[in-house]
Amino acid sequence: MNNQRQTSRRAPTAETVRRRTTPRSRAGNAIRMRLIIGLVVAAFSFFSFISKREVNPTTGEVQYISLTREQEITMGLQAVPQMVQQHGGLDPDPEAQALLDMVGERLVRNSFAVTSEYPFEFTLLADEEVINAFALPGGQTFITAALFNRLETEAQLAGVMGHEIGHVIARHGAQRIAKQELTEGLTGAVVMAACDGGTSCQGTARMAQMIGGMVNMKYGREDELESDELGLAIMVDSSYDPSAMTRVMEILAEAGGGARQPEFMSTHPDPGNRIQRIEEFVQENFPEGIPADFTR
Ligand SMILES: [Zn+2]
Repeated sequence: MNNQRQTSRRAPTAETVRRRTTPRSRAGNAIRMRLIIGLVVAAFSFFSFISKREVNPTTGEVQYISLTREQEITMGLQAVPQMVQQHGGLDPDPEAQALLDMVGERLVRNSFAVTSEYPFEFTLLADEEVINAFALPGGQTFITAALFNRLETEAQLAGVMGHEIGHVIARHGAQRIAKQELTEGLTGAVVMAACDGGTSCQGTARMAQMIGGMVNMKYGREDELESDELGLAIMVDSSYDPSAMTRVMEILAEAGGGARQPEFMSTHPDPGNRIQRIEEFVQENFPEGIPADFTR
């Protein structure tokens, strides 16, 4: 009894604290209020990011994604005209486009990419200046004539497109968008309220910004290495010689030596390091050499 009274006399209660601090300053309260609002917004962004957690059915990876597959596909399709326009239109050579389609379809049909159920499309762009290949969320993949014409074999083309298919099925674009939302303190719900995936995707400023961002989509090093690995596995499933990918890296490195820095180099850095990984993959999976019936 005695003890309790003594402690209560010494320790300030919630009441006494409030009485002491309240009159001190209104400005202090305003700052505190702003701080609280800031924290709430940050917490909300964080928890909405966390709530997007899902396991990628193809790669088995835990990811944080706010887009549904349908939204990814819709957004990708919406960005196609912009991509085509920026790279000099569609390539006019129907045979080259047919070869690209043939290789791309073979890669998807024979590999685990088919289970991802993305509607893959492979587009050859007329651009003869910019050496590049890229993928949009949802299955739209592209290669410029500048890169296409530098490739020497079908397996090299398969290597490039396998890598891009890797970006799609690992959902790197959608993951990047989720991360961007987190940094900007936005929620997927707000952004995607404008896009119900399929029927209507309204041209809000935010949507335009998102799609604009895809033009210069840069993935992290981790994403690139993952796509390399997925691409090699996709090549092997489709009986393409995976070692052709080392030559692709050399071609890119050679192109990088010129006056014009190819875009593929900035989005796909360090060909040297990646060659080593490719060689390790080939060694591990084909210690006896590449089977004779594989396409070179
Ligand atoms: Zn890449």
